[in-house]
Formats: sequence, structure tokens, C-alpha cells
Amino acid sequence: MTGNENAVPQADHLTVFFASQTGNAESISRNIYEQAQERGFKAFHHPLNDHAKVDWDKEDCLVFVVSTTGDGDPPDNSTKFWRHLRKLKGVGLTKAKYTILGLGDTNYDNFCQTAKRLDTRLQELGASSFYPRGLADDATGLEETVDPWIKNLWPALAHQVISTPAIHDLPQPHFTQEEEKVVKGLIQKQEQERRQSITAATLDSPRLLSTVISTTTGQDPIENTIKDLSNLTLNLPANLPITPAVGYKIDIDLSAMADHSNLTALPRVPNANLQIADLETAVASRVPGSVPTFIQTPTPLLMATINKVQCLTPSDALKRTLAVEFGFEDDVDYAPGDSFGIWAPNNEALVRGVLSALNVSDAAATKAVRLHGQGIPSHLQTVESATLLDIFRYAVDLTSPPKKANIRLYAEHANDLADKQKLMFMASKQGADQFNAFRAQSPTFLDILHTFPSVNVPLARIIETLPPMQPRYYSITSSPMSKSGHRRWSCAFNVVTYDLSGGIHRRGVCTPWLDELAGQVPFGKAVTTGLTTQRLPVFLKPNETRFNLPSDTTKPVIMIGPGTGVAPFMGFLEHRAEQRLIKKRLVNIGTGPRQHLDDHFGDMWLFFGCRHRERDWLFREQMESYKRDGVLTELLLAVSREENVPNSAKYVQDLMRSQGKNLWNLIHKKGAAIYVCGDAKGMAKAVHDELVNILVDHGGYEKMAAIMELNKWAQEKRYLRDLSLRRLFHALCD
Ligand code: NAP
Repeated sequence: MTGNENAVPQADHLTVFFASQTGNAESISRNIYEQAQERGFKAFHHPLNDHAKVDWDKEDCLVFVVSTTGDGDPPDNSTKFWRHLRKLKGVGLTKAKYTILGLGDTNYDNFCQTAKRLDTRLQELGASSFYPRGLADDATGLEETVDPWIKNLWPALAHQVISTPAIHDLPQPHFTQEEEKVVKGLIQKQEQERRQSITAATLDSPRLLSTVISTTTGQDPIENTIKDLSNLTLNLPANLPITPAVGYKIDIDLSAMADHSNLTALPRVPNANLQIADLETAVASRVPGSVPTFIQTPTPLLMATINKVQCLTPSDALKRTLAVEFGFEDDVDYAPGDSFGIWAPNNEALVRGVLSALNVSDAAATKAVRLHGQGIPSHLQTVESATLLDIFRYAVDLTSPPKKANIRLYAEHANDLADKQKLMFMASKQGADQFNAFRAQSPTFLDILHTFPSVNVPLARIIETLPPMQPRYYSITSSPMSKSGHRRWSCAFNVVTYDLSGGIHRRGVCTPWLDELAGQVPFGKAVTTGLTTQRLPVFLKPNETRFNLPSDTTKPVIMIGPGTGVAPFMGFLEHRAEQRLIKKRLVNIGTGPRQHLDDHFGDMWLFFGCRHRERDWLFREQMESYKRDGVLTELLLAVSREENVPNSAKYVQDLMRSQGKNLWNLIHKKGAAIYVCGDAKGMAKAVHDELVNILVDHGGYEKMAAIMELNKWAQEKRYLRDLSLRRLFHALCD
């Protein structure tokens, strides 16, 4: 990002930036970029972290497509940009004209936070918006906002271009008659306003550049790194005989199709940019069993062994929950509250099934290829030498439900008229209900091929348009201070497998894979796996929101985490237990009364929720032992599905209500920090409401004032949340 006072805006220049965690924002931004190119713009397309590649004052218009992750956090490929933006001062971006398309989910409190923050910050820096921002909601369907927003972007851009004097002889971007009509109307209106010379006079006049903006070009240590992992090995199920999966035929009720002959709002077919080049080398650089070099992670990739595994729930529990310990040969630095990512491959039978359905022979699947082409998706740009087998294992997502643009592409390539009509209908506005019903069955890519057998899309088009594979994230449940804690990470997760009606079996990507690798152990004690040669690709995700223990150990901590939401708190507790042990030794008060030790450590309260205490009270032994040792001050258990238990609370928020006065005292008198981890939709909202009630009932606040106070605490990092959505399949932890 550069600031140049003499920079001349170029009417035909358009830069599309994206900040994308799961690939949605990237694919939508690419669509805009490609349409801009088709219209004759000199268009550019970059992740936000590459902001310095563009002179923000020289480019005429900037379009941002940004998503939000976690509890209002920006995606990984924009963190460096945000650090840069924070450092900027004054109003140094007065020439920049921008618009923002935000992607978010209203199930989370901080809906489209990245888009809103970006908008505010750009305004503060003097940039002006040329088209109102759009905020698309994944809870109701992104397309509902994205499609009309993009449609109306072109008249807004046309307005910019037409009202900016052409400064060179390059051909100008072209627009449809309808768009030009809208623009002429806009220009007329603007002209009228200018004549009236009230407020409009200032609208387009450039303000003075008061600050020279510095450019950050330094390497960021936690930026994307591509590691040479050729000497690291992973024993893949490829060694076992694999029967390719066949896929399910998905039932779709298309009886309404006959009523609609004119289909509207069909998404455009994405451009074909990707090419697959055969390499001369007989085998890709990766030896079988190692991790492909094209994998990109936000922090360096590490190879871990599975040391131990324990099934925490008996077979009659609703969910199978595993605790797994990963080991490292060297020390790894982390803090309780951090998470880590695992780069799991797609299920091998699914991969083989897809390749077989695409008529890719075993010989072709194991030959070295290179992916190339102008403007190909960023996750494919590093595929320099890999087999198709590995590309389908590690680079593309085969299990996320399809987007409309993909359905439209498949329709283009359906050889059978009936298949084509069905797919076109589902991609249209008129077929929205059928499209949603289809997606609700979580069809894999193989299911789509099986349901529409005449679809024959060129391989390169498939690779290019499937979403990028995502790592799966888990909170670390261990402490680096514990014995060999620097060489191990522990975690806990539910093994995601589901049965849908019609005999359809669904499975997550990572958790069933880990379960199988670790031997599908039965409920009971932890088992040392002896898997000393198995290596798994993992990487650290440091907590950016300070969801870590307070550095002041005397500060009380209130932890609320039902189900596997308790994971980071087990790390907090192990850490605190170690801190107490060290303190005990250091100050030689081991023989003194316990309250001496407690003087150095604030209270720790844990609110945990499960269905049945005998079936899914995760980490029960550890929790009870921490309570006995005084590490935990209060252990409060809510049990949601046990009948005839007098005075028992159903949910954590019910427990909080009964402890309202004590909680208020902890918060108000002792300055406790509040941590909430788990499901964003039901639990986190209910806990938030209960905190409001506590402030009203015990702190004497008006309701609005209580809400504002909680917002203030969130900003001060005194009220911290680590939330995710519990969906049928959850790309972050399935
Ligand atoms: P779960 O087993 O589905 O639920 C745990 C308890 O919460 C059950 O007793 C359940 O009761 C109850 N519950 C349901 N709705 C509730 C509500 N509205 N308010 C309060 N309690 C409610 O939990 P889980 O599947 O483990 O889910 C935990 C969440 O933590 C997931 O979203 C996961 O992604 C997230 N998470 C996991 C990790 C990790 O490292 N694994 C880390 C951070 C976050 P009923 O079902 O009987 O109603």
C-alpha cells in the first residue's frame, strides 16, 4: 500500500482484494475480478496480505471481499494487513475509492465484523466509499446478498469510470445498456446536486494528503510458509487395499420444475484458467507417504506422532469423544488457549471413488503434474509437482456442499438433457428451495457425480472450482509447563459421523481419520498407541484474541465450556496446577497452610455441561482431582438429560443464574476474567444473556447499560469467547 500525492487515478483500473478463511471470499472475489476483466477493466486480484503490491491512491477503485471467522476475527490471509492498517495515521488515503462485500453468519454475535471494521478504518483514513457495502449472511444463504450486490456493483463502477476523465488511450471498460442507463441517471442526479452546490460540492473533491503512508515490506514470521517436507513421512492408508467409494444418489423433489420455464438469477460459469501440465519426471518430488509440498499453513508445519489416545465416552453416549496426545521430537512453543490445525487428507475411499468416476486411471493419478494458469486460485498456485491423487487428497475439499456456481458449471457439462435441466433449475432463483434441500443432505462431490451421471466436466475445471481443502482446528488441552509439555499437545474432539435418512452415512474429514489411525480404541483408560512412525502434519494457531490465562495469576477466572468446549480450560487448569506446584517449591511454603498458596492465585470457577454424568462428563477424573487439590475453586456441573435428579441444573446458564450473586462479587470486587468456549448459536447467546441478567439483578444496571458494559469488557479482553458453530459438518473441527 503506497501513498503518492502525485498519483493519478486510472479510470480503468480495478483491484479486487480478498480476505478468506475457507475459500468463499476468494472465489466470490475471483468472480468479480473475472467479470471486471471481461468488461475491459485492467483488473487485479490479491489477498489482503499482498496490499503492498498495489498503489491504493493510483488505482481508481478498490473492491474488498472479506469474511469473518471465529468470534469476529479476520481471516489468516489478512492479519499482516490489519497490523499495517493499525499503524497508519492521519487521513492518508483520500484518493482511494472503495467498496466492501462482507461475508458472515448472523448466528455469531459479531456478524461481518471484518467488513465493518475495515469500512470504519478506511473512512478514518480518508478513503471514500463509491458503492454501499454489502453484508451477506451464511445463515440465510450468501447468494441472497452476494448476487444482487455484484449485479449492482457494475453501474456503480460505471459511474466512477464515466465520471473520471480518461487519461490515456486504453479502451474503456464497457457496461450493459441497462447499467449505463442507471449511471446516466446517477450522473444527472449528481449534476443537479452540484448545481444546487450544497453538500455535493465536496463529494468528489480530493482532500489534502496529510500523511505519507509508510509501506511494510518486511517478512512476517507467521505469514504463509511453504515448507520442504520431503524428508518427513506420513503413513497413509494408501498402503492398504482401498475399495473406491461409489457415492449416494441424492433424492431431490423437482416436481415444481415444470412451473418455471424462465429461469433467472443464474450464476455465471466461472472462467477456465487452470491448466494441468504433465511433467517429464516419472514420479512427483514427494515420495509415497510424505506430505505434499504444496500445503500452505499460516505457521510452520510440524510433524507429530500420536502418542496416546483415550475414548472419553462409552458406547451408549450420544457422541464418541476422543482425547489424543500428539508428540514432537523438538520443543514447540505455545500457551494454554492456543489451538492447532491438522492437515488431514480426504477419505482415501472417497478420493479413489472420485478419480474412478472421473475416469482417471491409477497410472494417470500417480503421474507428476504441474498446475498453472493466470489467476488460478491461491491454494493451487503452489502445486508445482504433485500427483492427481495428492491433489484430490490434500488440495481440494470433496465434502462441503456445492455452491450454486458449481451446480451451474455441472449443468453446462451435463450430456443428458434431463440432468442439465435439473441442475440449471437448482442453480436458478426459482430452484432455491430445491438447491437448499439438496445442500442439506451434505452431498459430497462423488454424490453429485453419482446423482447426475451424465456430467462430464474437464478435470482442470473440477480442480479449479472445488473449494480449497481446510485444516481442522482443535484447542490444546495441555500446558507447556507440565512434564514434557513442550513436546506434546493434547486435544479432545467428537468423532464426526452421522447417518441421514435413506441410509446415507456421512463422516467428517479429520476426526474419523484420526480415530482410525489411532486404532478406534474402546471407552476406558488412555492407550499408548506405539505409533512412533506415524507422522501427522500439524501447525500451531496462536490465539490472537488473548483467550489465554491472565498474566496476573491472582486474577480470578470464570470458565464456561459445555461439551468439548471445555478443551482449552483443561489446558488452563493443567497450567495453573503447574504454576501452583512451582510456587510451592519456590517460596518454600509447601509445609504452610493452603491459604498461603491461594494468596498467589485467584479463584478458578468452571461451569461444565454434559447430558449424563456417567456417559459424557468429559475429563471427570481430572476435574475432580483439580477440585480436591484446590486448583479449581468451584466445579459446577449442569446435566441436560438425566431425569429425577433434584435441584440439578440443565444448562450452564441455569447454573450461572443460581450462582448470580457469587459471580457478580467475583467479577465486580475481584475483577474476574470471563471465558466462554463452545457453540456460538445456542450456548454462547444464552450465557451472554445470563451475564446481562446478573449485571441487572446484582449490579443494579439497566439492561442497555449492562449490554454496553459487557461490550466494554469484551474490548478490554476481560470477557473472552472462543466460539464455533455446531453444524452437521463443521469444516473447522470435523
Ligand atoms: P454437546 O455434547 O453437543 O453439548 C454439551 C452440553 O451442552 C449438552 O448437555 C447439551 O445439552 C448442552 N447444550 C445444548 N444446547 C445448549 C444451549 N443452548 N445452552 C447451553 N447448553 C446447551 O457439545 P459439543 O458437541 O462437544 O460442542 C461443543 C462446541 O465446542 C462445538 O461447537 C465445538 O465446535 C466447540 N469447540 C470445540 C473445541 C475442541 O477443541 N474440540 C474447541 C473449542 C470449541 P442437550 O444436547 O441435552 O440439549
